[in-house]
Order: sequence, then C-alpha cells, then structure tokens
Amino acid sequence: MIRGQLSLWGLLRETFSPSPRAPAPTPPKPAIAKPAPKRPTEETTTETIHLPHGSAEVEWRRSARARRVSLRIDPRGGAIIVTLPGRASRKAGLALLMDNAGWVAERLAALPGAIPFADGATIPLHGIDRVIRHTGTPGPARLEGDTLLVGGDPAFLPRRVGDFLRAEARRELAALAMQKAALAGLHPRRVSVKDTKSRWGSCAADRSLAFSWRLVMAPRHVQDYVAAHEVAHLRHMNHGRDFWALVGTLTPHQEAAMAWLRDQGPALLRIGQ
Ligand SMILES: [Zn+2]
Repeated sequence: MIRGQLSLWGLLRETFSPSPRAPAPTPPKPAIAKPAPKRPTEETTTETIHLPHGSAEVEWRRSARARRVSLRIDPRGGAIIVTLPGRASRKAGLALLMDNAGWVAERLAALPGAIPFADGATIPLHGIDRVIRHTGTPGPARLEGDTLLVGGDPAFLPRRVGDFLRAEARRELAALAMQKAALAGLHPRRVSVKDTKSRWGSCAADRSLAFSWRLVMAPRHVQDYVAAHEVAHLRHMNHGRDFWALVGTLTPHQEAAMAWLRDQGPALLRIGQ
C-alpha cells in the first residue's frame, strides 16, 4: 500500500496487520496446541479470509518438507493454497498473501467461469443484467433497454465494451463522489477511475480520489457506500470512530454494501478480462 494513501484495501488489511501509525490493541494470543511429539509431514486447514477483492477460501498447508512460505491457486476449486514450512508462522503466510493480493485476484479472475466481453454475454451494470449484442452499425457502444449495443469490427468489441463501462464509471462515480463531498463540505482535488483489482477505492494524501471502474457493475447502494467511504477519508485519513461517524452521515448503506462486496465483489473481477 502506498504510504499516505488509504483505501478499502487498507481497511481490510487492518484485519491482519495493524497500521504502524495507529497500533491496534494486542489481540489475545490464540490458543496453540502443543505440537505432538510426532507431527505429520503435512496438515491442512481451510478457512474463509477477507481479501481486498472479497472473500476467498484459503487452504493452509503445514509441510515439514517445504523450505519457504509459498502461495498458489488451486485451478480446480479456486482455493488459495498457502504452504508453511515447519517453523513459519501463520502471520508470515498472511503477509505473503496480502502482499500478493493483486496477483491472487488476477489469477482467480482468470479461472474458468470468467465472463469475457463478447457478443451474447450478460454483464451487470449498476447491478442490473445487460446483454452485449454486436450490431453492424458503427459508432460508440450504447445502452438500449437491457441491451448494450456495440457496433464496428467484432474484433474490437471487448475494447469498446470496456471503454463504455469505464466512461460510465468515470461519469457516475465522479458525480456520486462530488455529491457526497458537497454534503460534507469537502473538496476532492480529482476523481478518477482506475483498473485496479486489489481495491475498490482510494483516497490519496493530495485529496485525489480513485475508484475501480469495475464498481460501475455493482448495485448503486454499493457505489454509494464506496464513494462515501473515500470522501470521508478527505477529512479523516484513518478508520477511527470519527471516520465511521462521518461515513454514517453520508450513506445509509454501509453494512449492506460491505456484505455485498465481500460476497459478490470477487465475481466482478471475473468479468471482462
Ligand atoms: Zn478506508
């Protein structure tokens, strides 16, 4: 994470590693069972972990033979497999996982089941399903009812759909952020959309806000929350009590949106490679 920048990634990351500026209270030590005299060469536990792009199944493998902490994706089930050598801590595994969260998100998105931008594919826009249809008529992509009409050379269809969604994201998310900022009497320097797979939004120290363009596919209430969250960082560059109080005055959707991002967010990363 870039220093001086807070993001939804930062928020989720704090679950695992307390920020150096605001040390979290020391959590109670987990009860660790004393190692049995004879340990099996490999033991596996599975848990759901909340990563920046959403929740994912993480399989912890404790291996006596492994020489370093490693990370890979199980292509069949999409689980993230973290292998820990005998003495490595779970914390070391989590650190590796969080440092590579973007890579993990990309790999998960590339697994079978991804939805490419193609003629006949269904993609959500503001949470509503739209069907992509290629037409012979040239011109920019446009929405007609529930159909996204894309003209021109079929070879450029994916790019045109991407351009359409990014333009829509830029317009809608910037408008939303400006509206929230006005409510709070705050002034972002700039609002932009980026192609990030590891964070939904961010607020830089120079008051620039950025959002993932993929957020335009999420329902409006989710966009509303992410916009409120990043705007609130213009006043509070932390996730303290005052920050959350301000978020609460800017959106009523915090809980529902966070749950949605956790459960449905990963699917958005699998749309339109
Ligand atoms: Zn935040």
